[in-house]
Amino acid sequence: MSDWQPVIGLEVHAHLKTRTKMFCRCELDYGAHENSRTCPVCLAHPGALPVPNERAIELTIKLGLALECAIAKRAVFARKNYFYPDLPKGYQISQYESPLCGRGRLVIPTEDGEEIVGIVRAHLEEDAAKTVHAGGATGRSVGATASLVDFNRSGTPLLEIVSEPDMHSADEALRYMRLLRQTIVELGVSDAEMEKGTLRADVNVSVRRRGEDGLRPRWEIKNMNSFTFIGRAIEAAVRQQVAAHEAGEEVVQSTYDYDADTDRLTVHRSKEEADDYRYFPEPDLVPVEPPAEMVERLGGALPELPGARIRRLEPLVGFPLASELVSTGNERKAELLAAAGVEWRAAANVAMNRGDFLPENAPALAAVLGANLTREALDRAFAAAATASITADDYLSDAAVGDEAALAPLVDAVLAANPGQVETYRGGKEGVLGFFVGQVMKETGGKADPKVVNRLLRERLAR
Ligand SMILES: [Zn+2]
Repeated sequence: MSDWQPVIGLEVHAHLKTRTKMFCRCELDYGAHENSRTCPVCLAHPGALPVPNERAIELTIKLGLALECAIAKRAVFARKNYFYPDLPKGYQISQYESPLCGRGRLVIPTEDGEEIVGIVRAHLEEDAAKTVHAGGATGRSVGATASLVDFNRSGTPLLEIVSEPDMHSADEALRYMRLLRQTIVELGVSDAEMEKGTLRADVNVSVRRRGEDGLRPRWEIKNMNSFTFIGRAIEAAVRQQVAAHEAGEEVVQSTYDYDADTDRLTVHRSKEEADDYRYFPEPDLVPVEPPAEMVERLGGALPELPGARIRRLEPLVGFPLASELVSTGNERKAELLAAAGVEWRAAANVAMNRGDFLPENAPALAAVLGANLTREALDRAFAAAATASITADDYLSDAAVGDEAALAPLVDAVLAANPGQVETYRGGKEGVLGFFVGQVMKETGGKADPKVVNRLLRERLAR
């Protein structure tokens, strides 16, 4: 295995956060009734003409700038021709030779340096409609009695970001994917939620012998919509390809499906080449020429990007926590708590483990966190802080009893009442400690500070 190096590239698709579709004025409304957001353009009626969505172009350029891409002076929409029931035009409007965003890169901070993933291009296209397979048990076409098409999705603006095959492990690919997603979300380009289908990835995987130049045939795993499965599918592809190469079998460039149940990839269909799509410039649209002042304005308005923020937080909380905070979008909570006086690392841990709260509640929560409350009281405080203003005083009366003088007699009484268990503990079964802690908690109505109780118990039992 160690003789082989995985080579991974990702094509990430994100639904843009625009109010309307890419080439018509139909509203984007993911919850709307089927086929209620359509018009002659997105239903492909003859003679209907597309008009590009300016906001979609702006969002694409914004992300391109964040990825240090060269922004095209002149981008061309192209027709990608193929037939599918959810594509009534018989072609998808995409970008081919002249995308809006050319070469760029994403710098991913790591504990000991940085990983740089090259961006080949980021381009704008329209999504197809959605086919729903009805009547079967699995929702797939196999076993279905009918297939229905919902055109609400037809013409949804899609941003496709194509990376170089610069990643060499599932972990690297996931780090890239998470940081890219966070960047997309923070820029307001897309909600990028995999569960809702607004973010998907095609994963290209090949392997080569270490030290070998060039690339061997790759497998393309389409439409992945979970970080966990992306990681597993990459690992499965690497395993299967290494086994095939070592057995002298031919590895054919193809599209594959990942089956989570068997943790294996099976061939989907042989790969089409770009030539098969007969790309040509879309005659119904003029080229897009983004004005220099627009690009300048968008570049000037870019906020601090997630990668930079990880580096800013690193000295405060250490790299792993900084990276986790930023890639989960939790650092704002930590910042609020830290500003209210909570020590940074503690604030970061609370932010990772507790839900959202109203910013105005940060000082009250800081007071509550500093007061050594019972877990139950803390849960109540955070639950309330999510939706309404709270005052610390409402919770401070539930402070945990951490006073040794108050707890010591209780601890002694519990030990005296259970001589058999004390014997068991001293005989080596330290698990009995939990029983004693439980007894003390019962005596105090759950208010004893477990840390103090544990310490007092251990001291006494060690005598
Ligand atoms: Zn429409």
